[in-house]
Amino acid sequence: MSLIHKTAAELGALIAAGEVSSVEVAEAHLDRMAEAEPKINAFLHVDRETTLAQARVVDDRLRSGERLGPLAGVPVAHKDIFATRDMPTTAASKILEGWRPPYDATVTGRLREAGLVILGKTNLDEFAMGSSTENSAYGVTRNPWDLTRVPGGSSGGSSAAVAAYEAPLSTGTDTGGSIRQPASVTGIVGMKPTYGGSSRYGLIAFASSLDTPGPFARNVLDAALLQEAFSGHDPLDSTSIDAPVPSVVEAARTADVAGMRIGVVKEFAGEGYQPGVLARFHEVVQLLESLGAKVVEVSCPSFATALPAYYLIAPSECSSNLARFDAMRYGLRVGDDGTRSAEEVMALTRAAGFGPEVKRRIMLGTYALSSGYYDAYYGQAQKVRTVISREFEAAFHQVDALVSPTTPTTAFPIGERADDPIAMYLADLCTIPSNLAGNAAISVPCGLADEDGLPVGLQIMAPVLGDDRCYRVGAAVEKALESRWGGGLLSKAPAL
Ligand code: GLN
Repeated sequence: MSLIHKTAAELGALIAAGEVSSVEVAEAHLDRMAEAEPKINAFLHVDRETTLAQARVVDDRLRSGERLGPLAGVPVAHKDIFATRDMPTTAASKILEGWRPPYDATVTGRLREAGLVILGKTNLDEFAMGSSTENSAYGVTRNPWDLTRVPGGSSGGSSAAVAAYEAPLSTGTDTGGSIRQPASVTGIVGMKPTYGGSSRYGLIAFASSLDTPGPFARNVLDAALLQEAFSGHDPLDSTSIDAPVPSVVEAARTADVAGMRIGVVKEFAGEGYQPGVLARFHEVVQLLESLGAKVVEVSCPSFATALPAYYLIAPSECSSNLARFDAMRYGLRVGDDGTRSAEEVMALTRAAGFGPEVKRRIMLGTYALSSGYYDAYYGQAQKVRTVISREFEAAFHQVDALVSPTTPTTAFPIGERADDPIAMYLADLCTIPSNLAGNAAISVPCGLADEDGLPVGLQIMAPVLGDDRCYRVGAAVEKALESRWGGGLLSKAPAL
């Protein structure tokens, strides 16, 4: 088996044993990228020399006897919304074109310390606003299962890179579903940790009360290894949780649901869902039962109000966060010819630098926060958020974990929803409640839809700081299904 087809855990073990070098592993992936990128366009920035130089340093550290973590020498691709001190960081926006941060985000810095090698920066919807990567200022990313379809979003470059074997691991951020939905539609694993369980320091902010960094991988254990490597309290992030990190790797190895109580969210399966998605979902619920879980139906009626509440809260926070792009401090500056005021330069720069979806969100948020409307929109949405958190709490008194489809449909065709924001927003119908409540949730592949042969994801939601439960249930599903599929779901993906 070639290096690119190995799991991250296997690669880490081979490198630790000295059977293969980090440089060789990085080269194999860079070669794969050279072959796949003309079709996929998952990466915004690749720099072979910087990557190989990092790999050489890790090889030297290991040779000198330094003890690094289980992923030392393994490559990772970062969503281009995490600051990286040796690579540009753009958030896929023209307004940050050419910006090179002078520092690392906590996530990228911790992974660098643990010996992971950065393969490059991946594409996304501009400032992580979208569900398809079509809002990137640098072109769409294509789904490796079908090049005419989207890879999900906003972390679509990260999901496509892993699904196309360009990277064994990648990072993403999930504000409303941006890790779980792209993982679901590309047939891989994607996890949104508990809010505050992974640091936001050095992450370009979209909606600060929701933004959550998390891992992508082709299997549950690899995702757990990556999450464990960057998790833990960070004094540089004021909302970082100062509590022991859930043992996610151990949970992924446990892979056992016997005796667990699992709730099916009644509201998340019915009208508007693709039949093939529902068919796979109902099958996997039966599978959980056959593995010894006690499955019950749980009603969470307020989840239906999560989407509108999110589209008030997230734009409100973004309208404030994006005020920092003022043409003075970072990236683009338009019209600064000595004749214009700072205010005019700022207006020209923001008009030229932000794409249409970002402008829509800034206007929505500014409106929702304006005096006279604040209580009716933002204030009301915050109340809905509280009700949703309480409903989760009540549900988790009854069950250990909740399940639903990750997203109502499989990957949609490029262009299909580009002019229909509401249709685009609906991709996150099932994922948004966990962002509003801050609890942990994962998407694991559960099969292919009959209509189109495209991947379907199962979402597993667990309480705040119950990340280990997501991995435990996810690994059990993976183990049971893999023996049926033989060779994993991605082996069914058409070769590029
Ligand atoms: N698709 C959602 C949005 O456009 C979620 C994005 C995200 O999680 N970053 O806001």
